Amino acid sequence: MTTHRCDALIIGAGQAAPALAVALAGRGEKVILVEGNQLGGTCVNVGCTPTKTLRKSARVAYMARRGAEFGVNTGAVTIDFAKAMDRMHERVNASRTGLEGWLANTPNVTVLRGWGSLAGHTGQGFQAVVDGKGEQQHIMAARVYLNTGTRPLMPPIEGLDKPDARILNNESLLQLRECPKHLCILGGSYIGLEFAQIFRRLGAEVTVIEPSHRIAMREDEIVTNAITDFLREEGVQILTSTTLERVDGAGSDLQLHVQTKNADYSLQTNIHKASHLLVATGRLPNTERLNLASIGLPVDARGYLDVNGQLETAVAGVWALGDINKRGAFTHTSYHDFEIVRDNLKEPNALRSADDRVTAYAMFTDPPLGRVGLSRSAAKAESDKSGRQFLIAEHHMRFVSRAKEESETHGVIQFIVDAKTESFVGATVLGINGDEIIQVVSNYMATGASYKLMRNCLPVHPTVTEFFPTILDKLAAL
Ligand SMILES: Cc1cc2nc3c(=O)[nH]c(=O)nc-3n(C[C@H](O)[C@H](O)[C@H](O)COP(=O)(O)OP(=O)(O)OC[C@H]3O[C@@H](n4cnc5c(N)ncnc54)[C@H](O)[C@@H]3O)c2cc1C
Repeated sequence: MTTHRCDALIIGAGQAAPALAVALAGRGEKVILVEGNQLGGTCVNVGCTPTKTLRKSARVAYMARRGAEFGVNTGAVTIDFAKAMDRMHERVNASRTGLEGWLANTPNVTVLRGWGSLAGHTGQGFQAVVDGKGEQQHIMAARVYLNTGTRPLMPPIEGLDKPDARILNNESLLQLRECPKHLCILGGSYIGLEFAQIFRRLGAEVTVIEPSHRIAMREDEIVTNAITDFLREEGVQILTSTTLERVDGAGSDLQLHVQTKNADYSLQTNIHKASHLLVATGRLPNTERLNLASIGLPVDARGYLDVNGQLETAVAGVWALGDINKRGAFTHTSYHDFEIVRDNLKEPNALRSADDRVTAYAMFTDPPLGRVGLSRSAAKAESDKSGRQFLIAEHHMRFVSRAKEESETHGVIQFIVDAKTESFVGATVLGINGDEIIQVVSNYMATGASYKLMRNCLPVHPTVTEFFPTILDKLAAL
């Protein structure tokens, strides 16, 4: 049995961990990074990188099919699914290999392969165990950083518990070599909708099954209606108010037994056939195998950790970064967590805090949805509760000249401003380049400046952003 001693033990190579390991090593600390699966975590291996790479193949197919509309004639558009998947795997492998090389070449950083867990706390520091293949290693560490991320949730529905190669999650879906004939997707939220459009464009029939009465439930109705419209226009079938009751299928197709609540509240049962089912119903935090009880660190009812703005847990000397700390479920929030921890360690008076950040995010449908801050419904609820007054303005993409020039007119822009302080409190850009454009607003929001300053700025023509002053001129009481 090997025992290692280190200053910093990082468990889980999520999106904060590699940069944190290198930064701590740069301060002269001896760092051990423990990873049970693959370096790069969810984002690189089974999340952002593969989906955004496949999304490009899907978009090329989509534009090729629309070629004649732009005066570009192609032959029949066919999809080489295996090639699209190979391109995706190459991108993932290159990204992971780059990371592996970076860590391997950083002095003072040791990567241990295996599942890490804590094993108590003595006056000398934290004890931990790493379960690798056939070997157990022991670690004594002065400080511990947890960055173990999340994994797919499989809901307790009859038939989903049986091993079946046709029942997929985001990880197994990415291993397919042939495009599913008919992909049913359980869950109409961000991950499910991105995959729905990608696989539809790559040639699958796609059906989304969503229990709520609309998809992307966290967004305003104007947003979900626009997303529903462009997905349906491309042939994605969307079944809302529909629950999956049972899955069976001994033959070539799965049989999905669903129940739909009609507008008059009557219930209707149906059986849908599908070659594959993607379960995209949420994520679970990877905290239970960490044996946090051994150091007296509690998790909440869902298994997440509570942290303060500096991302410190209830146990001194233990930090939690990334999705497990409930302060964001994105690669950029996890990486930002690293920056906060690094800066606070470097300069304790810096007191950089996650409480101060403005969290923007995107859903990478095409066109993408960029979002920051309050939605209309959240602002309305806040106003009803506290009396705070807001101003709101909306502008449809079909009235944006750049969108018209590109024939990509789906979507809407929405701004919400605090009536008293005049600062932005929320924005939506669903439309071409919405994922990039939203950051004009989120970065501006971080300054707390009045919207009037932005209204007076000089924009570039012809861009989507050039409409910001026009839209801001339309602000009216919510
Ligand atoms: C399909 C999909 C698409 C996504 N697209 C986007 C996107 O476009 N943009 C975006 O910002 N976010 C996206 N996300 C979310 C993003 O991937 C995560 O928010 C991001 O990876 C941050 O995760 P993390 O740093 O908490 O850890 P993760 O990236 O989840 O990594 C955690 C690591 O810890 C390891 N681990 C867990 N437990 C242990 C243990 N006990 N011992 C050792 N190792 C352990 C795991 O194996 C894993 O490698 C997507 C997610 C999915 C599933």
